[in-house]
Amino acid sequence: MASKISKARLESDHSALISAEAYSKEKYGTALCPDLRCLCRLRGVSATSRNVDGEQIPVAAYFGLPPNAEKNGSGHTKRCRFNVEETVKRLVAKSKEIKEFDEGSEPILFGPRGDIAEYRLHILMELLGTKPFSVDQDDADSLKGKGRRTGTEYVRTDKVLAPYFRMARAVHTLIARVREKPELERWIRLKYAEHTIPWSEYFYDMGEHVYLYDFLVKHGQLIGAKKRTRPAAVAVAIDTTREVYLAKHGSWAVPCRTSLCVVKDGSRIALKPSLYVNDEKLARKIHRWNLALVCAIPTTEPLAPAPAPRLSPHARINLRVVSGAQVCQYNLNET
Ligand SMILES: [Zn+2]
Repeated sequence: MASKISKARLESDHSALISAEAYSKEKYGTALCPDLRCLCRLRGVSATSRNVDGEQIPVAAYFGLPPNAEKNGSGHTKRCRFNVEETVKRLVAKSKEIKEFDEGSEPILFGPRGDIAEYRLHILMELLGTKPFSVDQDDADSLKGKGRRTGTEYVRTDKVLAPYFRMARAVHTLIARVREKPELERWIRLKYAEHTIPWSEYFYDMGEHVYLYDFLVKHGQLIGAKKRTRPAAVAVAIDTTREVYLAKHGSWAVPCRTSLCVVKDGSRIALKPSLYVNDEKLARKIHRWNLALVCAIPTTEPLAPAPAPRLSPHARINLRVVSGAQVCQYNLNET
């Protein structure tokens, strides 16, 4: 299993990262794996397009291993995070280990069932080194958890599992990993309470709010509904031109930018994410960010008709933040 890598380090200067689009060997010299524990040689592959059923599909530029690199021992090192095969092997080993921990317990890894293996999110995070419980020490309302040991032991109760889905910073790191190796995406199934959620139904990036809306409507996760239990990680743009305000129900609202989304028939709908925060200080902190990642249980409402001919039908998407650990600044260019 090979990874397509979007950024590489330069042999001439390990601190410099270069994107696959900008790279040329003549200009920049040899490119290396961006993982500092690895630094194996990579080759740049230019952007191209591919003919699929008579349609030209663009393929973005990327870095990959030179031919036969793995065979002749110059591939990614064992500890390299781009070594997908090794990561999967470790996942399987870890899952087995956990299964042995309690013979009567439900297996954490389901597979191979066809191509799909399922991992509990907390195991995946542990193995990808995302440190799910490394929350801000200064943050008084950080989620309380059992700590490091969780994830290496089998945990039956959903109450203990739940915090993993609400750890925005850990999920943020996981998003970066999945982006680096899209192959991982299809291996991830999130087990949460009675639900099994594929990664594509858990994380909603900017520009994907319409899929989140469809997901919430499909599962009846509506504002005011009694049963609303599916968690999601949602990226939202903060509207810094509007002020934080005290909402009716006593929490602080952080204004977010409306997403204009094109739906199947080509018409547009306006989705308005609303962020509700218990703590005013936290609300004001979030208000200074451009983009935020919120890990919460979102709710929505049926589309309301367009208020004027030039406007679009609209709906709110509510995201309630109970703890500071549920939200973090969203910036994947920093990693
Ligand atoms: Zn590597």
